[in-house]
Amino acid sequence: MRWSNYLIPTLKEAPEGTEAISHNLLLRAGLVRMLTSGVYIYLPLGLRVLNNIKEIIRQELDKVGCQELLLPGLIPLELWKKTGRDEDLAQTLIRFEDRRGRQLTLGPTHEEVITELVRTHVHSYRDLPITLYQIQTKFRDEMRPRFGLIRGCEFVMKDAYSFDRDEKGLQKSYQVMFEVYKKIFNRMRLDFLITEADSGVMGGDISHEFMIPAASGEDIVLTCNKCGFSQTGSQEDEDIKCKKCKGKLEKKQAIEVGHIFQLGTKYSKLQGANYLDKNGKQQTIIMGCYGIGVSRLISAVIEQNYDEQGIKWPFEVAPFKVIIVPVKAEPKLEKLAQSYYQELKENGIEVLLDDRDISTGVKFKDSELIGIPVSVIIGEKNLKDGKIEIKIRSEKEAIKVDKDKVVVHVLKIIKEGK
Ligand code: ATP
Ligand code: MG
Repeated sequence: MRWSNYLIPTLKEAPEGTEAISHNLLLRAGLVRMLTSGVYIYLPLGLRVLNNIKEIIRQELDKVGCQELLLPGLIPLELWKKTGRDEDLAQTLIRFEDRRGRQLTLGPTHEEVITELVRTHVHSYRDLPITLYQIQTKFRDEMRPRFGLIRGCEFVMKDAYSFDRDEKGLQKSYQVMFEVYKKIFNRMRLDFLITEADSGVMGGDISHEFMIPAASGEDIVLTCNKCGFSQTGSQEDEDIKCKKCKGKLEKKQAIEVGHIFQLGTKYSKLQGANYLDKNGKQQTIIMGCYGIGVSRLISAVIEQNYDEQGIKWPFEVAPFKVIIVPVKAEPKLEKLAQSYYQELKENGIEVLLDDRDISTGVKFKDSELIGIPVSVIIGEKNLKDGKIEIKIRSEKEAIKVDKDKVVVHVLKIIKEGK
């Protein structure tokens, strides 16, 4: 992509009222724009990051045999009445009546819809176990939308649902997902904690949350200084002892990016999702559900990867892996920039060419702000000695490389960085 005709509206300063650092950087780096409170436009750069995160999640889920589908956003209110969640979620549900008088909602989560699907299409023990997932926009009438993508009224979630014959099957499905979540967050280079959590309105017994320690986190994690055990806490918790070893629990602010539940039969019982076992006897299907805050993750990654100058994207999430910066609009530099650009693209690398005719200072500032992991800087002085500068965003010093070895070098950095 060429910056000169690509929409990256960077800002010197964020608008007033952006409390979280990730919110500030999302706006300044031209990733998103607010349409109205809690509702965001993803600009091209922001969408690239969102898509990269979706791709990591998809790859890891598909690897363990989960099946992707897409459920509708419009859900009849009737379906919520079957489980009583029209009342439990009354404050959050966005509802309206259409021209035919149908009562509709915009889905904040999809346990009821998926259970309905499985109820009508899964009948035998042979059809189980199965885990289905989707990556979809959710709608919640949040009391306090804030911190940019951390808490929105419209946001992207990955929600997966497992269906098993028995409790043992559920344990297995849950464990698989537990491990997949670790892989996903590790690929994103996140520093995370796994907490034992409360199941809340979802129902069920056991649940774990995946938490990203960060200053802008709205959640509290209590971590034991002795055995490392973590649990979800609240602002009010004082002097609680660890239930495993009686050590002292330390309070940390964190962002919840994933939540997994062993639901058991809450939904399948209420909605009548059954199957016939080997002996032809009717049994209730056992469920688990597994959420990831896909759009919230963009903020979480920024919260853990920034400095004074801007964002420092980890490789797999970065909107572009490489930015090429000819420091001046001169034919010799531009020609070389063009050749690196072509060659990297031919190697399948997502590369941004800063071909704007603006001051070198602004180019450098912008490139640090948007946080592309590798910069290739083509300057007159170095070129006289046949050298090009390569700068890694997360490192202090730049290195000088022979002008003919640039592409090989960049490819090596990317391979090692992943
Ligand atoms: P929270 O406690 O933060 O309100 P939740 O527990 O209600 O979230 P879940 O129903 O578990 O959320 O949803 C799964 C995931 O979706 C959460 O772990 C979180 O990462 C993300 N998420 C939930 N609500 C929002 C929101 N309003 N904006 C962005 N992401 C959200
Ligand atoms: Mg949750």
